[in-house]
Amino acid sequence: MPVVNSPMGGSFAFPQSLRARDQLLTGKTSVGARAFCGFQGCFFRDRRMDTARIAVVGAGLMGLSTAVCIPTLVPRCSVTVIADKFTPDTTSDVAAGILIPHAYPDTPVHKQKQWFRETFDHLFAIANSAEAGDAGVYLVSGWQIFRSMPTEEVPFWADVVLGFRKMTEAELKKFPQHVFGQAFTTLKCEGPVYLPWLEKRVKRSGGLMVPQRIEDLWELHPSFDIVVNCSGLGSRQLAGDSTIFPVRGQVLKVQAPWLKHFIRDGSGLTYIYPGISNVTLGGTRQKGDWNLSPDAEISRDIFSRCCALEPSLHRACDIREKVGLRPSRPGIRLQKELLAQDSRRLPVVHHYGHGSGGFSMHWGTALEAARLVNECAQALRSPAPKSNL
Ligand SMILES: Cc1cc2nc3c(=O)[nH]c(=O)nc-3n(C[C@H](O)[C@H](O)[C@H](O)COP(=O)(O)OP(=O)(O)OC[C@H]3O[C@@H](n4cnc5c(N)ncnc54)[C@H](O)[C@@H]3O)c2cc1C
Repeated sequence: MPVVNSPMGGSFAFPQSLRARDQLLTGKTSVGARAFCGFQGCFFRDRRMDTARIAVVGAGLMGLSTAVCIPTLVPRCSVTVIADKFTPDTTSDVAAGILIPHAYPDTPVHKQKQWFRETFDHLFAIANSAEAGDAGVYLVSGWQIFRSMPTEEVPFWADVVLGFRKMTEAELKKFPQHVFGQAFTTLKCEGPVYLPWLEKRVKRSGGLMVPQRIEDLWELHPSFDIVVNCSGLGSRQLAGDSTIFPVRGQVLKVQAPWLKHFIRDGSGLTYIYPGISNVTLGGTRQKGDWNLSPDAEISRDIFSRCCALEPSLHRACDIREKVGLRPSRPGIRLQKELLAQDSRRLPVVHHYGHGSGGFSMHWGTALEAARLVNECAQALRSPAPKSNL
């Protein structure tokens, strides 16, 4: 098994088939350091530094944001992101990336609000920094409109976004089919810009990117001490989780640079989100549908629904179709699990299942996942490791 020098100063072993993404590009792999004896019964003992070797499976929004958070919360660690798809080929690259929470029935509302607030505050700071353009994060204002009165006129996130208010009669005149609306300013996070920016941050803090499909989390043992599972829909196989399912989303990316305001139907089905380089028109929510090919009939329907809300879209051009599968389950899974097989142990932190609201929650849940990773690392460093996991 080859051993690769960690940029953090430790050394760690990859299975033969795992090669660092950067090393594939640069050919700078350093092989030939010390072998590692594995997790069981010898954690840290045979290493020069007591570096916790952490594998993050998944390079979508959750994998990358968790990989950025881990070194800030876990002392003495190395981070390796392993995934079969990287930006621009993940679900997270298809999303419109607007911060409007989606409700998770199995997650307490106070938790959802905490994660949303942490995410909003974090991205608001980025939007107000010199990094905003590089990160693809910016403020957007617009309307959420309803054909009938919503059960909650003031949603739980109303005091997190900026300037939340009821739409005026004058504003509602633009939407004769709708009886109620909310106006507010929120944030938008462009996946195809934000993900490469997160990747750079992971690398800057010494992390590695490894393109590799994982069939079983045990493949990562004993090369890694802790595994973070951010594999989204891949968790059906990797975590044996039959509660996670795809909610297919088809969208159109069009050129309509005159549009600046977002418009979202309260059902979440029809939306117009102006972005940096295009406007996202949506959409669909097709439960249990795994088809990644665009459907021309659905595209026509999306276009006509959006034109009904914003007639100027009839002049939109350069229309491109995109499809993504939202990794959905009744609640986000943020949980430690100690896998055991014979005498082997592998601590895993699960961080997946964000469905339609991943961008709205990602930083809050990534911080929580990193805290769970730190608990695992502390337990491994303590004299009676297993009891604390
Ligand atoms: C059309 C659409 C619009 C959306 N709009 C919004 C929005 O406006 N606002 C919002 O908040 N959310 C939105 N979302 C939801 C958001 O995109 C998701 O919640 C989020 O992207 C999920 O991120 P993830 O990292 O969990 O999953 P993914 O992006 O799917 O990443 C999963 C990663 O795991 C890897 N992986 C999986 N299995 C394996 C394996 N066996 N071995 C190795 N690697 C593996 C994949 O290669 C990938 O790198 C939208 C989604 C869609 C589809």
